[in-house]
Amino acid sequence: PFDVLVVGGGPAGASAAVYAARKGIRTGIVAERFGGQILDTVGIENFISVKHTEGPKLAASLEEHVKEYDVDIMSSQHAKGLQKKDFIEVELENGAVLKSKTVVLSTGARWRNVGVPGEAEFKNKGVAYCPHCDGPLFEGKDVAVIGGGNSGIEAAIDLAGIVKHVTVLEFAPELKADSVLQDRLYSLPNVTVIKNAQTKEITGTDKVDGITYINRETGEEHRIDLQGVFVQIGLVPNTDWLDDTIERSRMGEIVVDKKGATSIPGVFAAGDCTDSAYKQIIISMGSGATAALGAFDYLVRN
Ligand code: FAD
Repeated sequence: PFDVLVVGGGPAGASAAVYAARKGIRTGIVAERFGGQILDTVGIENFISVKHTEGPKLAASLEEHVKEYDVDIMSSQHAKGLQKKDFIEVELENGAVLKSKTVVLSTGARWRNVGVPGEAEFKNKGVAYCPHCDGPLFEGKDVAVIGGGNSGIEAAIDLAGIVKHVTVLEFAPELKADSVLQDRLYSLPNVTVIKNAQTKEITGTDKVDGITYINRETGEEHRIDLQGVFVQIGLVPNTDWLDDTIERSRMGEIVVDKKGATSIPGVFAAGDCTDSAYKQIIISMGSGATAALGAFDYLVRN
């Protein structure tokens, strides 16, 4: 068996694997796609000490760093179940069962897509999901935020300080965000809120140049000229495969304590799959380190 088995090979998992391996204990990492979400990212400008990098380049460096150590890397493998017996057992799609004394879950998350024409085509060409990451790219431009929940309204408030104008498109007749956020939003001069708006298409040629939506009350179609669209309709953690084996929040996020420990002794979690406050590369790497040290501490004590 492994001492530490990391499930997920994004920034959190890579960090956990390096921290575990540096303790000289038997470490394995199983990942569907080594690199995780950063493989889909173009520019990264908030990974502190690296002024600018690109996702695939950072993913390659993560893998290179993990390979500096004696870590058993199992790529292109999907974990489908977890059970605690004598050891913690992680079952893979291919039928194999990996045994370990401790596990670090770092299966990440994915942004929910609106699924309209143009969204996939213009990803990184005007369609964005992370205001902290990509907001500054739209300085002085017109953008829309799709989604009027807390994350959408937080994004709109954040973006309003950077861009020229923000239009919020909410599908429902009312915004769902907390009223303090709504009050703040409505106090801003460069924000328009459109409710009952069903996004129809994100348009453009090589980059985004507009968005069309249908007013659900009148059925009329409208178009807004703009350069950016932030999709803010939810971040879904990749935790379905855990069923009820482990405590998860209402949103499906794995609940962790300050050492990254979960509700199952010996099972730790890190990164975007947890109920951590913010989802960023630097934060997931930090929590990966925390979870690996938590696992090591657990091994020492048990
Ligand atoms: P992930 O990166 O999601 O990695 C999850 C890993 O788990 C992957 O290896 C995946 O294949 C694997 N996995 C999932 N399920 C299973 C399973 N069942 N079995 C086995 N393996 C599994 N953050 C920034 O700080 N700066 C940015 O500029 C930035 N830009 C972004 C741009 C985009 C388009 C996106 C989508 C995200 C961006 N982020 C950015 C957010 C950042 O990418 C994430 O916060 C970070 O990648 C989270 O790391 P993670 O390791 O927790 O999860």
